[in-house]
Amino acid sequence: MQFFTRVEEMGHEQVVFCHDKASGLKAIIAIHDTTLGPALGGTRMWDYASDEDALVDVLRLSRGMTYKNAVAGLNLGGGKAVIIGDAKKLKSEALFRAFGRYVNSLSGRYVTAEDVNINTADIDHVAKETRYVTGLNTEGGSGDPSPVTAWGVFHGIRASVEKKLQKTDLRGLTVAVQGAGAVGRYLCGYLHDAGAKLVIADIDEARVDSMVKKYGAKAVRVEAIHQEAVDVFAPCALGAILNDKTIPELKTKIVAGGANNQLADERKHGQMLVERGILYAPDYVINAGGVINIFHELKGYNQDAARAQAGGIYNTLLDVFKIAESKKISTHQASDALAEQRIESVRNTAQLRQNFDNQLWIRR
Ligand code: NAD
Repeated sequence: MQFFTRVEEMGHEQVVFCHDKASGLKAIIAIHDTTLGPALGGTRMWDYASDEDALVDVLRLSRGMTYKNAVAGLNLGGGKAVIIGDAKKLKSEALFRAFGRYVNSLSGRYVTAEDVNINTADIDHVAKETRYVTGLNTEGGSGDPSPVTAWGVFHGIRASVEKKLQKTDLRGLTVAVQGAGAVGRYLCGYLHDAGAKLVIADIDEARVDSMVKKYGAKAVRVEAIHQEAVDVFAPCALGAILNDKTIPELKTKIVAGGANNQLADERKHGQMLVERGILYAPDYVINAGGVINIFHELKGYNQDAARAQAGGIYNTLLDVFKIAESKKISTHQASDALAEQRIESVRNTAQLRQNFDNQLWIRR
């Protein structure tokens, strides 16, 4: 890979390669853009096939965080870290503390959190070495982000229904929720309370049973949930669920759910949904409640304040839909445009430096 060609194209500010021989740590921290504030994004642990795969992944994920944080209206830039290796074999206190020292050496330009294969115990070790970490389970921490994520998704569904079906009420509408995990089950609760009917599928039967008992949800086969004739399909399980095979089989007018990376190919499948007349709430916009939640921890956590801000996803999505309609582009492209617009407008203000300095208060 032509490294500098790649980062020039993608716009990264800084990429840090971390190595600690004693603990076996090999990690890469990518800071994509700090125009709006410190780069926030989780740390993922993965046994990559090659170092290049790890680098490509962290460059892609950190850039995604810039867009997600910008469109969520947070004063945060985008960053991400990957620790290379088998999470089952390599984890140790020493490794996470070594990683924490690298995070600390960036003096707040990068703030980390949990991501795939990283749990609370791991992040607690990181926090022994740096205050530039969030999403903690300890006192003052924000704990499980799922209720706030689901709250944001719920308001995103409301916005999508208003746009596509011209209805301001979910009563009597049917929503198919794919996955009754942390996000899916809270979402089912909020939808039920709002009077929606539910269809549910999960590979874990106990989770399905619980939704059937609690909310009268109709259980369907895992392979078939996207084919249900419903008002809204809400993916809350897997990535790449919107693809060449599933999109032609959809019988819904709206896709709006919490899962990450729903489009197998952003451009192609975003366009396929437009052509089928299906309104798609871009995943990183509608599921931003999680990052909003950990942002609030940095300010002094208050779940009501986090929820209130996640509820703002309703207005953000209406803005995204408006841009998509006026520019005749997919909603995914429209949300990218909204993020870029915000970053550029802030880049051009003299307030920026001051704003950034003010962000370096984190957890003193
Ligand atoms: P989770 O692991 O708690 O739940 C996922 C659920 O999906 C599980 O119950 C699992 O059994 C089920 N599942 C797996 N394969 C399935 C299949 N083929 N069909 C139906 N169900 C299947 O995860 P989560 O925290 O609820 O996250 C769900 C999605 O939302 C993920 O894509 C995650 O990245 C994204 N997300 C989560 C948060 C959060 O706050 N937890 C924030 C932003 C985005």
